[in-house]
Amino acid sequence: MKYIPEPFKIKTVEPIKMTTKEDRIRAIKEAGYNTFLLKSEDVYIDLLTDSGTSAMSDAQWAAMQLGDEAYAGSRNFYDLEKTIQEVYGYKYFVPTHQGRAAEHIMSQLLIRPGDYVPGNMYFTTTRLHQEKAGGKFVDVIVDEAHDPASTYPFKGNIDIDKLQRLIDEVGVDKIPYISYETCVNMAGGQPISIANIRALRMFCDKYNIKIMLDNTRTVENAYFIQKREAGYANRSIKEIVAEICSYTDGCTCSAKKDGLVNIGGFLAMNEEEFFIAAKAQVVIYEGLHTYGGMSGRDMAALAQGIRESVDNDDYIKYRVEQTNYLGERLTGAGIPHVIPHGGHAIFLDAKAFLPHLDQEQFPAQALAAEIYVETGVRAMERGNVSAGRNTETGENYRPKLELVRLTIPRRVYTQSHIDYAADGIINLYQQRNKIKGLQFVFEPKVLRFFQARFEQIEQDSPVKARV
Ligand SMILES: *Cc1c(COP(=O)(O)O)cnc(C)c1O
Repeated sequence: MKYIPEPFKIKTVEPIKMTTKEDRIRAIKEAGYNTFLLKSEDVYIDLLTDSGTSAMSDAQWAAMQLGDEAYAGSRNFYDLEKTIQEVYGYKYFVPTHQGRAAEHIMSQLLIRPGDYVPGNMYFTTTRLHQEKAGGKFVDVIVDEAHDPASTYPFKGNIDIDKLQRLIDEVGVDKIPYISYETCVNMAGGQPISIANIRALRMFCDKYNIKIMLDNTRTVENAYFIQKREAGYANRSIKEIVAEICSYTDGCTCSAKKDGLVNIGGFLAMNEEEFFIAAKAQVVIYEGLHTYGGMSGRDMAALAQGIRESVDNDDYIKYRVEQTNYLGERLTGAGIPHVIPHGGHAIFLDAKAFLPHLDQEQFPAQALAAEIYVETGVRAMERGNVSAGRNTETGENYRPKLELVRLTIPRRVYTQSHIDYAADGIINLYQQRNKIKGLQFVFEPKVLRFFQARFEQIEQDSPVKARV
């Protein structure tokens, strides 16, 4: 198996506690079999999320020392502005504390009650802000995105026929913009192609509709284009990122992902009127338009992080190929998971991993808990628990995809950490029949996956109890 050498060396280390299986059995019971409720210090390798968990470089830490904390007109704001103009090509921007704050301001400004917002699959916070502004999200992603076994190389693409049908149905006036996400998170980190965004631009020009990019994972997406799309093998990541953005009218961005920082985000655009309106909103919800939701030092780290994400192609190659390496190890062992491998995470297929459990016994939740007990690796459930209950019938939704997400933080874990995680999961797969299902002991009404508590179902306990 070809591994990918890390394009950095380690200068500062954060020790991690080594735990025993007994420690971990105790910890997961205390956490009600919910990995969100584990203490971080009880986790060996934390693959819960790639959001805000990146390791910053020496240059980013040095930049933080040069934070200009002036209330107005911080030098770091102007440096960030110049960086966003150079790398993404947008004329104007307002800083925000993270991605959802940018989504809030954009949705309030662009959406009118009764509008429809087409997009390539929903994202949780994005859809919520669209709905809060009175809009309705409409999924126009290609059908392949919903099939975990489809090997289509650009499963993030928009199906322009679906978009045309929506326009014919509701009228173009009811569509404020297209919400276009790179490396679509909820589809498993699946990329869009240049051919798709170019076709979308031509289509939207015909109808005079804006394209607003969710720019959170554009650098990862650019790597897939370089690797897979005809004519792009010799183009740099920086050129491809700029080309993607050039077909759009602006973006929201969670800088906690490709931006290589622990907190931050922004809303960017080319139209001056939109910028003036966004500045008026940012002072209400975030802060003055030259810091928004960020301190001077945070803006300094972000400007440097954006530059590092595109300065050379080695970083992003390592980042995406490290994720792919984990996926390839699991493929080699015959472990069922979503393909092609996405940019930021590998998704285990818990239904196929644990065929002896009914979906009502929460196989993905049970598998995430058991991976922790076996290995000290923390993953996240994306299945029946996350999907919740139908408010009318009270039944669990039983989604088609019952997944466990192994999300790779950027520049944090080494080759041997990834091998350790893969070996542990492969070992667990060989004893998968022993994994027990779960039942609720506490079920929150909304977003239940964050705080729900469970216990194991003892299939044979009634008999055993009598012995
Ligand atoms: C994380 C994320 C967001 C929300 O950003 P926050 O910084 O968590 O508020 C929006 N869109 C996508 C695609 C994301 O991954």
